[in-house]
Amino acid sequence: MTTTTETYGVDPTPTPLALLLLGREADPNSERGVECPGDLPPASDPNLVERARAAKAALGDRVFILGHHYQRDEVIEFADVTGDSFKLARDAANKPEAEYIVFCGVHFMAESADILTSSAQQVILPDLAAGCSMADMATAEQVAECWDVLTEAGIADVTVPVSYMNSSADIKAFTGKHGGTICTSSNAERALTWAYEQGEKVLFLPDQHLGRNTAVRDLGLSLDDCVLYNPHKPNGGLTVEQLRNAKMILWRGHCSVHGRFTLDSVNDVRARIPGVNVLVHPECKYEVVDAADLVGSTEYIIKALDAAEPGSKWAIGTELNLVRRLAKAHPDKEVVFLDRAVCFCSTMNRIDLPHLVWALESLVDGRVPNVITVDPEVAKYSKAALDRMLALP
Ligand code: SF4
Repeated sequence: MTTTTETYGVDPTPTPLALLLLGREADPNSERGVECPGDLPPASDPNLVERARAAKAALGDRVFILGHHYQRDEVIEFADVTGDSFKLARDAANKPEAEYIVFCGVHFMAESADILTSSAQQVILPDLAAGCSMADMATAEQVAECWDVLTEAGIADVTVPVSYMNSSADIKAFTGKHGGTICTSSNAERALTWAYEQGEKVLFLPDQHLGRNTAVRDLGLSLDDCVLYNPHKPNGGLTVEQLRNAKMILWRGHCSVHGRFTLDSVNDVRARIPGVNVLVHPECKYEVVDAADLVGSTEYIIKALDAAEPGSKWAIGTELNLVRRLAKAHPDKEVVFLDRAVCFCSTMNRIDLPHLVWALESLVDGRVPNVITVDPEVAKYSKAALDRMLALP
């Protein structure tokens, strides 16, 4: 495998979906869409907080609001529970009395919640344009084509797909259909260990960085055991020999927030803040994770800060909304964002107070907006993959 910056870096080739212009149309079956029927309150409305409170109170136990860790403070304030995507989906399933699950997160998260909740519950995404660029980087057609390439190379039978939670329901269903499992950033090592007990190779979707970091750092594979499958090139840009020799076939996808941290970000913060602890998410590039002091999921980052000594210094490489909240929650520690140039997750940030108010007031008025519904067949296979994850030793 070529160990160039370009290889670990940001894929400059957009997927066709990424070209779907915001503001033009909606595709509720993908991570893209922008329709917001009805009147959205203006962001300047001074009564937004009061309106959100009143609508939430009027709905009572009929509504359950989930807030992802990367959401804005103004939205988190109204969340009944906060967490990462999988925890939130399970929290929703454990709240059967709530007819409406308002998911303040992104599209794939709302899909997972729909898969795990009962048919009596409806999952609502306050803005359909809240997609995830990483999930967009692997479409069902591209992954089916990749599987054909593996079949022609004679290795599909010994390859187990492992898909990150941050993928569309279609990709989760593909994974379930082909005997694979879903993983989160907390259990990726266990998921890969399990997968290598089932087969000789893993096809890891869609985040190349989580796949590479876990395979090399936790499972002891070498960088040369990994190849990068580029869905924009014939045969993924790989020869049959490269595919046959590989133990880990990484999909060329990345998070557009975590993928932007660089080795320079780490070196720069160390020079600026002597004694700083660099703590990053495993969606960061290999060289960033390698240069950090600690690596872990969002929940791990939160716990690490809780357990940190007063006076300690921390540079955190994850989404900015969460880092700001951590800095506020730990005034006795110095908590800074790893890179001054990296910004918020723009799609996650689309869920703002006007959209939340609009969704809640619509429910009060008897209209159920922006319902995310996963096709039953897709849901069945996605659930099989999610159940395998839950059964991981
Ligand atoms: S932070 Fe990255 S992985 Fe998470 S929703 Fe945004 S783009 Fe997707």
